[in-house]
Amino acid sequence: MSEPAKTPASNFVRQIIERDLADGKHSVIKTRFPPEPNGYLHIGHAKSICLNFGIAEDYQGGCNLRFDDTNPEKEDQHYVESIQRDVSWLGFHWDGAVRYSSDYFDQLHGYAVELIEKGLAYVDFLNAEQMREYRGTLTQPGRNSPHRDTTVARNMALFQQMRDGQFKEGECCLRAKIDMASPIICMRDPVIYRIKFAEHHQTGDKWCIYPMYDFTHCISDALEGITHSLCTLEFQDNRALYDWVLDNISIPCHPRQYEFSRLNLEYTVMSKRKLNTLVQEGFVSGWEDPRMPTIAGLRRRGYTPSAIREFCRRIGVTKQDNVVEMAALESCIRDELNETAPRAMAVLDPVKVVIDNYPTGVLEQIESPRHPNKPELGSRTLPFGRELWIEREDFREEANKHFKRLVLGGEVRLRNGYVIKAERVDKDADGTISCIYCSYEPESLGRDLPDGRKVRGVIHWVETTTAVAAHFNLYDRLFSVANPGAEDDFRTVINPQSLVVQQGFAEPSLASAVASEPYQFERQGYFCRDCSNEQALVFNRTVALRDTWAKLADKA
Ligand code: ATP
Ligand code: MG
Repeated sequence: MSEPAKTPASNFVRQIIERDLADGKHSVIKTRFPPEPNGYLHIGHAKSICLNFGIAEDYQGGCNLRFDDTNPEKEDQHYVESIQRDVSWLGFHWDGAVRYSSDYFDQLHGYAVELIEKGLAYVDFLNAEQMREYRGTLTQPGRNSPHRDTTVARNMALFQQMRDGQFKEGECCLRAKIDMASPIICMRDPVIYRIKFAEHHQTGDKWCIYPMYDFTHCISDALEGITHSLCTLEFQDNRALYDWVLDNISIPCHPRQYEFSRLNLEYTVMSKRKLNTLVQEGFVSGWEDPRMPTIAGLRRRGYTPSAIREFCRRIGVTKQDNVVEMAALESCIRDELNETAPRAMAVLDPVKVVIDNYPTGVLEQIESPRHPNKPELGSRTLPFGRELWIEREDFREEANKHFKRLVLGGEVRLRNGYVIKAERVDKDADGTISCIYCSYEPESLGRDLPDGRKVRGVIHWVETTTAVAAHFNLYDRLFSVANPGAEDDFRTVINPQSLVVQQGFAEPSLASAVASEPYQFERQGYFCRDCSNEQALVFNRTVALRDTWAKLADKA
């Protein structure tokens, strides 16, 4: 594409990196993107992906893709695969092989043993409730567990027994011995290993003890030689633990953790737990449902990798929590597709037009450009004949001058075609208009009306005998409130209109539309063919032409 690459916006992380390079603290920058394979990636992850992989690209470093897989019960190989697909689709390349925290289970176990040997970890037998009680609160210090002073030798033996499967799940765990009075709660002797008799998607049944996230993450970063470990703000407190672990084991590398604010987006939820609920309880058709904020859902909806990357560029990276309007995401895809998407015509809610003065049995072939200002995209042929479909809402028997469409006795131009005038209508028994009879002006194709008459407007159409039947999935926001996550039950605020399916007709050139290739359906919005059905023609609306929500807000 001829468009120049957009320069990445500078941000505080990039400033830190530039300083570290200038100071000679690092010569090569190494980042990582560490998803847990317990769900599909969403647009929030895209922010982290663009940051981590973008930095690696721009500073000629590398970014690892590492599955943070320490919760075997919640994780699945299917998610491992979907995540790789989505990162690649976004256009990023990880450095070397895909990595897994589970690759390091042996080393992690060794470091846990090292902490025990140094008297910095102990096996505790408090149950979950007792542990909570002993932990104290933000205003009250915690209390030492009665098992805190077990000897090193005994702890070594107990930890070995944990590993050998001699204790039940929850019966005991390994804790770091730090400070039960620390103002930072996660420093109050955090659990670093717990027992789980669970089959792991990578390591099978090799282990029945699994390391906790805080213990695993910093060590994995260090083993991979990560220089800047970028995570979201909720891990700010955990940084103390990150540093404590690395300071107390014999590992030469000590990456630095920096936190940035999560992406929050209006009218959707981003927690994987909530997204999983939507999938499991059938509120959506799956993780790839085009209403989901997942990368896979956005892809099926018709978003492009470049539009998502542009969105991440526009929102930037800061330490301030904020909520981004859905319109900001939508304008990225709209701006791109306005430039790139070929135009086509489709009638979503059809009503028939018969042109009385057009000869029966004649089909004219009208060459029409695919894009109004991109001749290089070529043209397509639009058949025109005596019977057409037009949009039901584009006709009224009576209307004032603000209605820029077809009215009885009034004239409109058919896009790329002739000017027609509505003469009379037929109605069903229930009063629904079944057919609009029109006349056409033979001298109006590609030119103004002969006597300078002005038409009310331009409407789209398709010729009935050549049109192809199609389904149109009209997607809207999944939730009817801006912050569904703040509701007691986010499932009660799902937008009942989030998917409206219409059955209509498309111009014949669309019969060969390729899945996920974008089109602008004139006056309707941007659509792409759905990938799920090769037989039927199904189009997903990516986004409307204008921000209809903003218009509603203006009127209110
Ligand atoms: P969830 O709470 O939804 O399960 P998570 O943060 O646990 O999300 P991970 O798979 O652990 O999900 O996330 C991988 C990386 O993506 C982490 O570094 C995390 O900080 C980042 N990330 C997740 N959600 C967002 C978001 N909304 N905005 C920016 N970064 C995010
Ligand atoms: Mg996580």
